[in-house]
This record gives sequence, C-alpha cells and structure tokens, in this order.
Amino acid sequence: MKSHGFRDTGRTDRRPALPGVHTPTSLAHLMRCLDSNANIAAPLRPRGAGSSATDCNVATMGTVISTIGLDRIIRIDTYNHAVTVEAGVRLGTLIAALADEDLELIGNFDQTERTIGGAIASPCMGPGIGSQASMLSTQVLSMKAVTAAGKIMKITNTQKHLLSAFRLSYGMLGVIFEVTLRVRQMATFSASHRSLDIDTFAQVSDRLATGNIGLKFYLMPHRNHVYLDLRHYETATGNAYSAPWKIKDWGESTVLPNVFKSLSRVLPIPSVRYRLIDSISATTHDLVNSRLVRSGNNATAGGRHRRRTPRNLLYSTWCFPASDFSLVVKAYAQFCRDNFERTAYRCDLPALGVRVAKDNTALLSPSFDEPVIALQTVSTQQRGWDDFVLDLSEFAENWGGTPVFNQTLAARDDCVSQIYSERLEFFKKIRRQLDPGGRFLNPYLARYFK
Ligand SMILES: Cc1cc2nc3c(=O)[nH]c(=O)nc-3n(C[C@H](O)[C@H](O)[C@H](O)COP(=O)(O)OP(=O)(O)OC[C@H]3O[C@@H](n4cnc5c(N)ncnc54)[C@H](O)[C@@H]3O)c2cc1C
Repeated sequence: MKSHGFRDTGRTDRRPALPGVHTPTSLAHLMRCLDSNANIAAPLRPRGAGSSATDCNVATMGTVISTIGLDRIIRIDTYNHAVTVEAGVRLGTLIAALADEDLELIGNFDQTERTIGGAIASPCMGPGIGSQASMLSTQVLSMKAVTAAGKIMKITNTQKHLLSAFRLSYGMLGVIFEVTLRVRQMATFSASHRSLDIDTFAQVSDRLATGNIGLKFYLMPHRNHVYLDLRHYETATGNAYSAPWKIKDWGESTVLPNVFKSLSRVLPIPSVRYRLIDSISATTHDLVNSRLVRSGNNATAGGRHRRRTPRNLLYSTWCFPASDFSLVVKAYAQFCRDNFERTAYRCDLPALGVRVAKDNTALLSPSFDEPVIALQTVSTQQRGWDDFVLDLSEFAENWGGTPVFNQTLAARDDCVSQIYSERLEFFKKIRRQLDPGGRFLNPYLARYFK
C-alpha cells in the first residue's frame, strides 16, 4: 500500500504563509492572528495610523496587524479621571468623547488621526504644560497586550519595570489591545505668540526650556526667523473656542504643504520659489498664530479631527538636550543654510520644535535623563531628501541628538547604542524573553534590537 508522505515523515506540508495585512476587530480575532500555529507570515508588525517616518510599522515580507478595527472606548471613569480604550481608537475620537464629560488628555497632542496604541507604543510628544504632560505614554496606568506566544498579558503600574518597557516599545513586546490612561478635568490655557530672530531666540531658549510652560515653535532657518507659541495656565484666560485652532491646523498641515508642492511644479527657479514659499509661511504664521489663537485647552488645540495622516509630508525628528539648545538652534540654522549652498536642497516647510519634559517613565524615553527639544525637520521636497537626511543625521549626532525609532531617519547603529546604552541592553533582554523567536522584529528594528 502506498503511504502518504506525512505518515512517513511525521510532518504535514503547509501552504507557505502569505504576507499581508490583518485587521482584527476583537481580542479573539487578534489572538487568532498571533497564534503561533496560524499560517501567518512573520515578521509581524503592529500598525496604528501608520504616521511614523521609519519602517517600524512595515512588514514587506511578513504581516501587518492593523489595529484600527479595535476602536471601542470601553469606559470613561469621570470619578477617578481615567479612561479605558482599545488601541485602535483615534486620538481625535478620544479627545471628543472626553470633552463631552468635561475631561481632557494630560498634554496637548495634534495629529489627531493617530491611534492610542501608536501614540503610547512610540513617542507622541507635544507642548504640554508642566513636568508630566509632554508624552502621552506617561499617562498609561495599565495596558493589555497579546504577546508573541499568543498569550494575553496585563501590565499594571504595580509592575513598574515591565510597564516602563511596554511604554514606547514600538510593538516589539506584544500587540497592545487595551489601554487605561489617566485624564483630567478640562482646563483653559492662554497661548501667547512671539516672532523673533534666531539669535534672540537662542538667548531666551535656556529660560524657555526650563520654565513651567508649554513651548512649541516654528523655525525658518533661511529667513532667520522663529515663531514662538507659549502656553501657560497662570494668567486670566479667554474662551477656548475650537474654530481658530482648526483654521490654524488646516493652514499649517494642509494648505501650506499642498501649496508648496504645487509651487515646486510651476516655479522651477529655486531662488524665486523659495523666496515666495518663505513669504507665504511667514504670512501664515503671522496671521494664524499671532492673531487668531489666544487661548485653548487640550481638546481644542488638538486641531481638526482628521481620519488620515497628511500625505506629501517628509519628516525626521531628533531630540536635543534643552540645556544646549541655545547653541544647537544656531548651529542647525547654519547647517541648513550651508547644506542648501552645497547641495541646492532645502526643506520648504518650517521645522517644528516642542519642549519635552524629563520623563523616565519609559525605558526608551528620549528625555529619560533631561528635558529635550524635539526638532522635527519637515519638507514636501522629495528630490534630495534622502541625502539631506543623512547630513542631518551626522549634524544631529555631533550635537548630542537622540533619535526616536519611529521618527528619526538614518540614525546610525553606533549612535543608537551609545545614546540608549544600558537602557537599550535592558530592553533587548526583556524583548528576547517575551519574543525569543523574533516574530515582532522586522529588518529595520532588528538592526537596533536583535
Ligand atoms: C505630519 C506629521 C506630524 C507629526 N507630528 C508629531 C508630533 O508633533 N509629535 C510626535 O511625537 N510625533 C509626531 N508625528 C509622528 C507620529 O504621528 C507619532 O509618533 C504617532 O504617535 C504614531 O502613531 P500611529 O498611530 O501613526 O502609529 P504607527 O506609525 O502606526 O506606529 C508607531 C509604532 O508603534 C507600534 N504600534 C502601533 N500600534 C501598536 C499597538 N497597538 N501595539 C503595539 N505597538 C503598536 C508600531 O509597530 C510602530 O512601531 C507626526 C507625524 C506626521 C506624519
């Protein structure tokens, strides 16, 4: 009698696992996706809104686990000021639901299309006022994740080390499916605006970097200009109308990028084009920031409630010690101008900076030891961007910049191991325990975390 192959060998042949995207809509569904017996191609990469700049949320030959189907707000606890949500809930959806209960997130975050899972598994930094309000991950009280072994894991704030590893874990320790965050009563802040040249900004930046204020700024190196947005609770405040913030957000993140992209097609002469681009940027910031927006709260100042990440935008973020920023900002402006002269490439949008308070609640926090200024270089100009990013990386490294794994392009391995040092080793140890087979490591993350 002819025997079947699998009887001879004890093995069954499987169809090769196919790469693809899975969008679970329930915990049971997510667990099926992560089951080690499921015919799903590794590596597995969780993805929220996909707004990161690096390949941290990509699995070309593997499987993306998109969390956007896990979108329930489970409980808003108005008494204890806490909210429990599934990981795929959009920031904007949560902000609106909290506002209905006169509550808000602790910290001010725009890009409201990002997901809660993405915003706590990677840095979500904003100009929050005070020492605890710069990153959303700080507010995590507990979370539930499904590990590489397909098991549910609950992490609470009694497991301090584990929770600090899971915050900003970039999806390497498990897929987070539920999060409980600390929130607070809605409070109105006042926003004041100044426009200054870079030298003057450098002179006051030490004071700004250590003050109890929310600091955001737009830096135009080629026009030698900085637009400051300073937020504080101390003074008498007006009404926190949302319309001006929506217009501001629309101007900054939709109108300017689209106009600049079009201008690069119709105005081929760089000197003319960039003069116009800088004038439009300056006028928009003068009008929108300085005149329109005077007060807000963490709900209104999040901008419009979008569903999609703006396209066209290229960005790379480096975090610099706040204590050195008076020097760094001048050097950065000089670097941009020199680079333009040498390569004819420059970014068309202002760089965006926010002050991030010292925060050691996450093992991979970019401000673990001291406050930092997160400087996001932004452009719509694709041609020349890759080379620019390499030069920027060299510049940032020389000035003590810290890369973040989902927003910093072209960070060298040596720089990463030097900056994150023992914390990186500790994180790797936890990662290897939870995912010995490296199911969650794609080639990009393996470079830094193997
Ligand atoms: C125009 C623009 C402006 C931006 N501005 C800012 C800014 O001001 N401040 C700032 O900090 N960032 C900013 N970012 C960067 C980015 O939006 C944030 O880092 C954001 O928090 C990522 O959220 P996401 O849902 O898009 O996550 P994704 O990009 O989808 O994922 C980010 C990381 O988290 C992991 N992840 C996602 N969901 C889960 C989950 N459920 N479980 C486990 N791991 C998960 C992914 O694997 C990946 O490693 C900006 C991006 C753009 C495009």
